[in-house]
Amino acid sequence: MKDDIVSEYLKEQLEQLKDNSEGAVADYIPELAHADPEPLSVAFCTVDGQVYAQGLREGDVDLEFSIQSMSKPFAYALALEEHTLDHVAQFVGMEPSGEAFNELSLDGETKRPMNPMINAGAITVNQLINGEESSVEDRVEKILSFFSELAGRELHIDQPTCDSELQTSDRNLSLAHMLRSYGMIQDTAHDAVDSYVQQCSIMVTVSDLSKMAATLANGGTHPVTGKRVCSNEVALQVQSVMASAGMYNGAGRWMASVGLPAKSGVSGGIIGTLPGRLGIAAFSPKLNENGNSVRAKKVFQRLNKHMGLHLMATEKRGRVAVRSITTVEDEKADKGITTVIRLQGDIDFNAAEKIWRAIREHEFESNSVILDLDKVDEINSVGGRMIREFRDRMIAAGMDLTVVDSDGVLAQ
Ligand code: GLN
Repeated sequence: MKDDIVSEYLKEQLEQLKDNSEGAVADYIPELAHADPEPLSVAFCTVDGQVYAQGLREGDVDLEFSIQSMSKPFAYALALEEHTLDHVAQFVGMEPSGEAFNELSLDGETKRPMNPMINAGAITVNQLINGEESSVEDRVEKILSFFSELAGRELHIDQPTCDSELQTSDRNLSLAHMLRSYGMIQDTAHDAVDSYVQQCSIMVTVSDLSKMAATLANGGTHPVTGKRVCSNEVALQVQSVMASAGMYNGAGRWMASVGLPAKSGVSGGIIGTLPGRLGIAAFSPKLNENGNSVRAKKVFQRLNKHMGLHLMATEKRGRVAVRSITTVEDEKADKGITTVIRLQGDIDFNAAEKIWRAIREHEFESNSVILDLDKVDEINSVGGRMIREFRDRMIAAGMDLTVVDSDGVLAQ
């Protein structure tokens, strides 16, 4: 079978949005004002490295555009990698501001920007990268090479986009002046904005973005190159802040209606992560009044509806973890009887808790027990800890316990 049902499905979703012409391209950055408003594309990257990318028209899928505010979570990840969370938290908070992306939104007491997803927070985060003493050039180089690792290919900065934003950066310059007056940044306002705007002008495709997002969803390991780009803790922190603040003043509505950690950019892209499963990106340049792409948002809403991607959706979990508890005759065993407990599927906290309950409630006919793990697919860390714990307790209680684990799923 050659049919690629995922790509066909994605293409169908884009077709449905073909005639939607709502919104307007961002015009405060001259280079974006000239952008072709028509492209529409979407990409998925699974945590095991499968990438599905589709465009509405020929060429849409390969189009490069500037990353803009979708750079913010990744710059935050780099700052966290270079420093500790405690250090970064002295300069930028993690509370949703509920305000537009270009509001100053500082904490009343500490004067820290509320979070790293708004411009004030992102300018501050940018300044933490490569240390206080860094030149703009070296800092930007660090960011570009980190983003390239996340995309799994060499990225570049689009100079015209960067120059044109710098011409119209009064708002960001004023934020930088304020931040400097509160001691949150050290560079001159001009250098700080220059460095931040270069970060926003890194060029990406939807496939790049889906891989960057999937790296976060995969706990920091790149799903295609296999390289560890950031730590698990950093990936968790970044996605947590994306979930509460990534969509600015629309963050609450986004969480309720789409239900994924996400980040949008004024070039027209939106990225989302489904932790442990997927990185998603959609792109179309026309924006709504909150500065989010109209059609990219609709793509996310459609996928959410059809594919059950909402983080809070309570789906019934797979099969029961205890496949069977039976007894067999065994002349060498205690009282000539052995109880065989067969487990199956994936064992996480909930599964392990159920197994333990089943064992506790079972009336054993003898002291001889076999715990058979041969039908278990995977055991996560808490599942493993719990199974080892009840193995040890059964032995301590005087049971003659044998664990059958031909594939070694139960790490020691
Ligand atoms: N470079 C843009 C700015 O700072 C990014 C804003 C965005 O994408 N929301 O204004």
